[in-house]
Amino acid sequence: MYLGRLCEVATARDLFTKPQYLYTRLLLDTIPDLEMSGRDRTPVRGEVPNPINPPSGCAFHPRCPFVEDRCRQEAPVLKQTESGLAACHAVKEGRIPAAAAVTPPGP
Ligand code: SF4
Repeated sequence: MYLGRLCEVATARDLFTKPQYLYTRLLLDTIPDLEMSGRDRTPVRGEVPNPINPPSGCAFHPRCPFVEDRCRQEAPVLKQTESGLAACHAVKEGRIPAAAAVTPPGP
């Protein structure tokens, strides 16, 4: 979820190994890399917007490196992906490259 909106739905394994939504990926990058694998991480840029007055269109657009004009105007809806559902124009249009998998916690 981001600012109260459902952004991605997937099984726990798919969420960790094949995250589609960018904010999901950025959240996974905040998990400490205890094995010191050296995998690339992308910090979330910008500030969290006011949830009482969220940005137009996709609420994540002020912080998203894949933002386009459509994102500022049209709120994306959940659509089927290869591993679940994601609400993102770039995912639907295939503009976001595949993410590096994160090892899921637990058994
Ligand atoms: S809809 Fe646009 S701004 Fe929102 S996460 Fe996808 S690419 Fe980024």
